[in-house]
Amino acid sequence: MQGESTHAGLPCVFVRLTGCNLRCSWCDSEYTFTGGRPMSEDGIFAEVARLSPNGGLVEITGGEPMLQERELVPFMQRLLDSGYTVLIETSGERPLARVPKPVIKIVDVKCPHSGEPDTFDMTNLEALEPHDELKFVLSDRTDYEFARDFVSEHGLAQRVHAVLFSPAFRKDANGARDVSHCLLDPQDLALWMLADNVPARLGLQIHKFIWDPAVKGV
Ligand code: SF4
Repeated sequence: MQGESTHAGLPCVFVRLTGCNLRCSWCDSEYTFTGGRPMSEDGIFAEVARLSPNGGLVEITGGEPMLQERELVPFMQRLLDSGYTVLIETSGERPLARVPKPVIKIVDVKCPHSGEPDTFDMTNLEALEPHDELKFVLSDRTDYEFARDFVSEHGLAQRVHAVLFSPAFRKDANGARDVSHCLLDPQDLALWMLADNVPARLGLQIHKFIWDPAVKGV
């Protein structure tokens, strides 16, 4: 199930690619840095078709999927041509200009306390389509103020379908399915956003409230 973005709550097939060149302090996908298994493009397509034979939502994620751009761009086009709605979740550090325009890009802008500040490729602002979404994962007030000011300085709310402010989860979260695992209390974030009238929506990773936050593949 899609767990974050404006598509949260919809059934979705995830194509998760191995490897990432960043090391975010709160990363919940460290298991993707290595491992996985080699699959051909035909093999991945066949698996997507098996899981979702009548079209639907497919999300390309990782790791950082755009590290495999050469193979990924034609694969995304193949999914589009076959009637799928395609999302890509990306760190924002890789150039996105070659992503097929109908693909919905969910692009991170890394905040100061992510451990990977200043990695956003500013040329990506020009690659954004009106259906795309920008996401800021926040772990404290400093991150929030960075995100608030970045949104304002670059007019992001006018560029994309949604700007998402999302509290970071502890990467070792497990057991309780509640906000105790959030590094930033969503209530504090909500109050800050209301006080500043930020043109963004507060997003929670709903899959971590539906299943144990440690569960993978949901
Ligand atoms: S970019 Fe994504 S996968 Fe890579 S370290 Fe950061 S959160 Fe993890």
